Amino acid sequence: MHCFYHPKEEAVGQCIDCGKALCRSCFSRWNIPICDDCNYRRSVADEQVIDHEIHVMMVLGVISLCFAIYSAIKEGVIYRVDCIIWFVWLIVGIYSGWKTLSSITDKIMNWFKFVLIFPLLDILFFYWVKLFIACVFGWICLPYHIYRIIKRKKEIREVRSKMTLLQ
Ligand SMILES: [Zn+2]
Ligand SMILES: [Zn+2]
Repeated sequence: MHCFYHPKEEAVGQCIDCGKALCRSCFSRWNIPICDDCNYRRSVADEQVIDHEIHVMMVLGVISLCFAIYSAIKEGVIYRVDCIIWFVWLIVGIYSGWKTLSSITDKIMNWFKFVLIFPLLDILFFYWVKLFIACVFGWICLPYHIYRIIKRKKEIREVRSKMTLLQ
């Protein structure tokens, strides 16, 4: 079998997404054995998800900031700046906690679907528990969530710049 991109080269493996045959240089180009087309497709899809998450976090941050300022004015008290930052952190953290939990619970839910006796009731209960955990531990997840977003953004940028170099 020969490389899809370099017909003269012998293939050493295949793309994990589409199964195209890849030569040694194509096979080891990225961190994972993936062809350029699929890697680009993944980066576009990931970027959409990441941008959506950033937008949600920004909207939540602005809303909670406005709420804190509004209630401070209404109550006629002057909140300390660190209290306001902490409040915004907590609210945005709920979203981060929810997102972090989703990556785990989606798998559990798929498995549970076959076991549940009263699916709707259990799912409702399940989401309440999930929301509760997100509220309690979300603020811990937030820095990690932001770190993950920055790291993936950087990877995507690297993929793009490598692609333009190759063309
Ligand atoms: Zn591929
Ligand atoms: Zn090749």
